[in-house]
Amino acid sequence: MKEKILVSACLLGENCNYRGDSNYDEAVISYLKDKDIVAVCPEVLGGLSTPRAPSERIGNKIINNLGEDVTKEFYAGANAVIKIVKEQNIKKAILKDCSPSCGLDEIYDGTFQHKVIRGDGILVEMLKNIGVEVINCKKITN
Ligand code: SF4
Repeated sequence: MKEKILVSACLLGENCNYRGDSNYDEAVISYLKDKDIVAVCPEVLGGLSTPRAPSERIGNKIINNLGEDVTKEFYAGANAVIKIVKEQNIKKAILKDCSPSCGLDEIYDGTFQHKVIRGDGILVEMLKNIGVEVINCKKITN
């Protein structure tokens, strides 16, 4: 059986990011061409609208740039993805960089000043906790 790879839906061209746009990534799409993929957007799965106000992680909270606490929605979406990952026995994920959900190793610092700090998005943290290998989309090159 082919291994299944979890992927951020926005990288495949789905218009699900906060701007109502995609983060279409040709290198990722080409890498995944012959692979079995499961595309998800945790923020949409958590019930957030598209477009939506941009959000950043501050500790274990997620706050949007209107000052609203959207932690509950972010965790609901990440939990929905974790359920899919467990049901489908997924062991690898390729996710969008710097997102408060999907970012690996680098996220924005919560000031909305485009300042990047070390840290993981909510979903990435949960995937790591159950032993899923997470790859930053920027590491995939043609
Ligand atoms: S939550 Fe993840 S999949 Fe959804 S738009 Fe943000 S980076 Fe893309």
